[in-house]
Amino acid sequence: MPNIARSIYTGMVGRRRLGLLEPPICERCGAVMRVKARHLAHARLVPESQGLGLILRCPNCRSEGALLVGRDAQAALQQGLTYLSLTRRGRQRAEDAARLVEDVGGPDRLIRDVARRELTLRSLAPERRLALEMAVDERAEVEELERRWKEAEELADIADGMLSTTTELEEELRRLKDGLP
Ligand SMILES: [Zn+2]
Repeated sequence: MPNIARSIYTGMVGRRRLGLLEPPICERCGAVMRVKARHLAHARLVPESQGLGLILRCPNCRSEGALLVGRDAQAALQQGLTYLSLTRRGRQRAEDAARLVEDVGGPDRLIRDVARRELTLRSLAPERRLALEMAVDERAEVEELERRWKEAEELADIADGMLSTTTELEEELRRLKDGLP
């Protein structure tokens, strides 16, 4: 019974559409690519100047039809890896994967290594795929933190602006007070 539940769940995750704002158009056949998580088994991580690049295979003509970059690539990669880690061959001990991330010198190195080989996600060894999943999750967290820090800095700048106004006000008040008999 748990196996049936698991395969139903895996099927559900696999049928989920990619959470992109706009579905990409296939460069080969011109079709709107309605990519689901399970289609990402054929996606390839490639080096990109702006970080991550993910080449998607078109569900219609089955050729590589679109390149996702940045946040889209990252989100799609996470979705695909989540699906693949649920499939039978993807189950693997998490410690092995964590060690693999450490062995290659951290999450960024691992992502770069995989991207350089330009393999499909499906053809990665299960523990390497899990390691990649961890690395991408970790990097997403770091980027989220950086975004929040930037926000905090911007808020601090605004607060500084208000503070200087307050100081000016205080000086004005002091001048007024000093002027009083
Ligand atoms: Zn196509």
